[in-house]
Amino acid sequence: MKVVKFGGSSLASAEQLKKVLDIIKSDEERRFVIVSAPGKRHSDDIKVTDALIRYYRAYTSDQDVTERQNWIIQRYKTIVDELNLDYSILEKISESITKLATLPIEGNPFLYDTFLAAGEDNNAKLIAAFFRKNGLSARYLHPREAGIIVSSEPGNARILPSSYDKLEELRNEDDILVIPGFFGVTANNQICTFSRGGSDITGSILAAGVKADLYENFTDVDGIFAAHPGVVRKPDSITELTYREMRELAYAGFTVLHDEALIPAYRGKIPLVIKNTNNPQHPGTKIVLKRRSNGLPVVGIAGDDDFVSINLSKYLMNREVGFGRKVMQILEELNIRWEHIPTGIDDMSIVLRERELTPIKEEEIVSQLTRKLEVDHVDIERDLSIIMLVGENMKSHIGVTATATKALSDSNINLEMISQGSSEVSVMFVIKTENEKKAVRALYRAFFPREDS
Ligand code: ASP
Repeated sequence: MKVVKFGGSSLASAEQLKKVLDIIKSDEERRFVIVSAPGKRHSDDIKVTDALIRYYRAYTSDQDVTERQNWIIQRYKTIVDELNLDYSILEKISESITKLATLPIEGNPFLYDTFLAAGEDNNAKLIAAFFRKNGLSARYLHPREAGIIVSSEPGNARILPSSYDKLEELRNEDDILVIPGFFGVTANNQICTFSRGGSDITGSILAAGVKADLYENFTDVDGIFAAHPGVVRKPDSITELTYREMRELAYAGFTVLHDEALIPAYRGKIPLVIKNTNNPQHPGTKIVLKRRSNGLPVVGIAGDDDFVSINLSKYLMNREVGFGRKVMQILEELNIRWEHIPTGIDDMSIVLRERELTPIKEEEIVSQLTRKLEVDHVDIERDLSIIMLVGENMKSHIGVTATATKALSDSNINLEMISQGSSEVSVMFVIKTENEKKAVRALYRAFFPREDS
């Protein structure tokens, strides 16, 4: 039994939906189909989810919403027309989109999520109708009926562990179930979405819930490459990766799969495969608990920008009990998430994503560190990138870091920080963003020597 998820680009047009139908028809084990909202048809198109954001903004700022509504309805209408579907489905979609602009604005923390979720919800209805018209016994299922119950965290929902028992019952269904991705319902019956790109998470939850043999995640690439193809020319494609390796790569900019999507499948021990809707014969990239070694220490190199570092120093910091906790407390009270904390004897750097800081929060951090913790020095460094060298096999290879630092120094790249977790699945370098691409290329040449990069 397989759970299959299709991303927005696989569902953007009638032509794409026909490929999806063929994929489902070609394997009767494909019983659960999780769908995104229609994505972009071409590079300057708008994703339905983004169009829903504009619609939400117009509605909540009291502007005329007609144009916004029509654009979205028209988007579905084009697909309905091209697939020759019955107009009753379009009426349902149109009603659901229009109704959004009657929901209460005040005291409704789930309004934004309800708007956004409409993209996948209506697409699932459309796709179920399309499957039925083409002879499949398929049915749309709302996450509420499926049992995807989530925490009350708008835009950042988490699955409640109690959901899994109900999900398991879906195994007994005879129909192919078409379930919208990206959102669940709270215990109080409110629509609540995962973070952006979260349909991958729904697929993973379903796969774990129904104890699938495989979770197939269909996208528009043949799988995962050892480095970004926009940075390194013709990088190797990866046939097998472990969950931990994928998690590290996804964290640092490999956006083929949402990083939170790995956890449910991993815990449920469900293998996952990334495949291409436009080239379904290609085996894709498989993500597994344990993989065979291909002899190389590094499996992939990722780079991500928009990081900042709060650098602080205080003489004899190492002797001060509770110093670290106090620093963390300042961040916690300002609701700031941090990513890495490399330390020296008398200094500490807190690396975080730029979006976590506002000018007010920044001022507050500097002032509290100076006043309360009496640090000798604090500065905020911007325009930083992280580079992640990832591979489970690194722990059995000596000299990986030496090779990496030599490659970077040969390319004249200064290392701001370096850190390696005890699991040795990755080594992270912090460098200036202006050097990011150069660094990835240099490391690729060093670790994948036979390839022409
Ligand atoms: N449609 C949502 C987004 O654009 C979720 C997804 O596609 O996975 O973020």
